[in-house]
Amino acid sequence: MRVLITGITGMAGSHLAEYLLGRGFQVFGTYRWRSRMDNLEDLAASGRLNLIGDNGPIASVASLGQMVEGQLRPEAANLIEADLTDAGSMHRVVGAVRPDRIYHLAAQSFVPTSWNAPADTLETNIVGQVKLLEAIREAGNNPLVHIAGSSEEYGLVHPDEVPIKETNPLRPLSPYAVSKVAQEMLALQYHHSYGLRCVVTRAFNHEGPRRGHVFVTSSMAKQIAEIEKGYKPPILRVGDTSIERDWTDVRDMVRAYHLALEKGRPGEVYNIGKGQSMTVKAMLEILLSMSEVPIKVEQDPARLRPSDVRLLQCDCSKFKRETGWEPEIPFEKTLSDLLDYWRKRV
Ligand code: NDP
Repeated sequence: MRVLITGITGMAGSHLAEYLLGRGFQVFGTYRWRSRMDNLEDLAASGRLNLIGDNGPIASVASLGQMVEGQLRPEAANLIEADLTDAGSMHRVVGAVRPDRIYHLAAQSFVPTSWNAPADTLETNIVGQVKLLEAIREAGNNPLVHIAGSSEEYGLVHPDEVPIKETNPLRPLSPYAVSKVAQEMLALQYHHSYGLRCVVTRAFNHEGPRRGHVFVTSSMAKQIAEIEKGYKPPILRVGDTSIERDWTDVRDMVRAYHLALEKGRPGEVYNIGKGQSMTVKAMLEILLSMSEVPIKVEQDPARLRPSDVRLLQCDCSKFKRETGWEPEIPFEKTLSDLLDYWRKRV
């Protein structure tokens, strides 16, 4: 069975590729010429990374189709250059690969950047998804499509609304969150209007090795690794540590994404998360307890956001009931693996 992962070079995409290869799927993914490839370095080191058609322009669906059939390596992640914001490249990739399943993970995924570059965020996430969905319609083989929505869609959550069910009102608090609401609405509209088999997930935060250094868990783990090596004074700079998040390990999350297409129902929306919320402060204390040196914590006003989502806690009962998914990795292991990831990199 062929799967296409948009955003395979990202944190979740790279873990999903490894998971699906381990289950015998033929894996394809999209990359851009400037993509950071370090998340795929484990695959490359084990000889399981294959770039298709990387030596020239891809003229048409037919010529890319020939390259795919001639250059495909079933045991590897097969990468094809494509940009979500380019309708032609989406058309060629989907038309040539004709995947049975698509995991649409590519996005501008960082909330603060969505304040600094809101139009780009909406263009990439919303208009980009339209280009993908249109390419799927044109290819006409009706794959199962996973759309990666986010708990950020809930935005303003009142204390009496937790744990948050799928029926909770969506009150997005950032352009990123608005883009994710629109992605979800588009997926459902294409399902109802054209019969596309889209399954939407609203994932709560997921973390672990390869998390981008700008995200809170990763930023803190990276700072600790830098302080341990003596590259920085022993002061860790933080934003608002009173906000609460529901953190899941990314490796549990990609298993959930697989189950979403195995057992989830097209046209449905599923929350995915552990169901336990924790303040950033409590998360930081776990990380600091793993540090090899004493560290002082200071608030950095530059890290405060215009309107932060204060409280996210997932009610995952619908997804668990329909798929049997259970998170397996304790958060302490997620954080210690993340810290070790940075210790090897800084
Ligand atoms: P990352 O930021 O690590 O990865 C994003 C991926 O999208 C990268 O591969 C990036 O490619 C790709 N991308 C961005 N813009 C384009 C474009 N124009 N064309 C093609 N590819 C593009 O995100 P995560 O792995 O953390 O998240 C995956 C998905 O899950 C995202 O949609 C995110 O919004 C969603 N999500 C994530 C959560 C989390 O806690 N991690 C929570 C809820 C939802 P490149 O390397 O070229 O930049």
